[in-house]
Amino acid sequence: MYLGGVLAVAVEALLPGLCPHCGRPLPGEDRGLCSECWSRIIPLAGAACPRCGIPTEDPSEPCLGCARKPPPQQATLIWGEHNGVLRTAILSLKHGGRDDLAPPLGARMAAAVAVLPWAETIDTVSFVPSHSLRRFRRPWPAAELLARAVANGLERPCVPLLRRHGLGRQTGRSRARRLALPRRSFSATARANQRHILLVDDVATTGSTLRRAAETLRRVGAETVFCAALAHAPDPRRFS
Ligand SMILES: [Zn+2]
Ligand SMILES: [Zn+2]
Repeated sequence: MYLGGVLAVAVEALLPGLCPHCGRPLPGEDRGLCSECWSRIIPLAGAACPRCGIPTEDPSEPCLGCARKPPPQQATLIWGEHNGVLRTAILSLKHGGRDDLAPPLGARMAAAVAVLPWAETIDTVSFVPSHSLRRFRRPWPAAELLARAVANGLERPCVPLLRRHGLGRQTGRSRARRLALPRRSFSATARANQRHILLVDDVATTGSTLRRAAETLRRVGAETVFCAALAHAPDPRRFS
């Protein structure tokens, strides 16, 4: 499956103008994906923990992890599942240079946030930055592109507030390794005094990255932090 996604990304780099998921030519009015593939990208319908956004059975209560140790963010929305068309779209956005996917994906996230009770509170949109070395290779990382689109949809400013330290690649690391990352994997680039921030990321797995980023924002004065991630990637090692 992973190979399929990578191949799709490689093919589209050679053949722009094709839908990265199904390979059909994109008619002029379709942005990023063909309309059929867009129709197959749907938000998560199941219950999720209101604090960390990870799928759970009872949405009225925080999950066990959040009950034990409440996260620094007030609430989290995870928009979809990291598989199928959405997974291809994220791979294409992150590694295939398909920046045109960010505005329509970010607009979907913004629409989902806009109907939540805390949406009105948000005064600033920010994002989880990628590691500076990766940023050197890719000046506009996926989370930042998505955050700009979300900010646009919510009519709020998008403000970079964080810098990332350490080797940032999370995908492929074991859960134990991710959880063992140094606590200070982010620092703030500006004060976040009194702000009510929506922090955007592309993919959340255990939620530990969002927690650390939110914690950093709280430390530099953010009044409230809310989080939104485009997709939840189930942790393959969680139950092993
Ligand atoms: Zn398609
Ligand atoms: Zn939780």
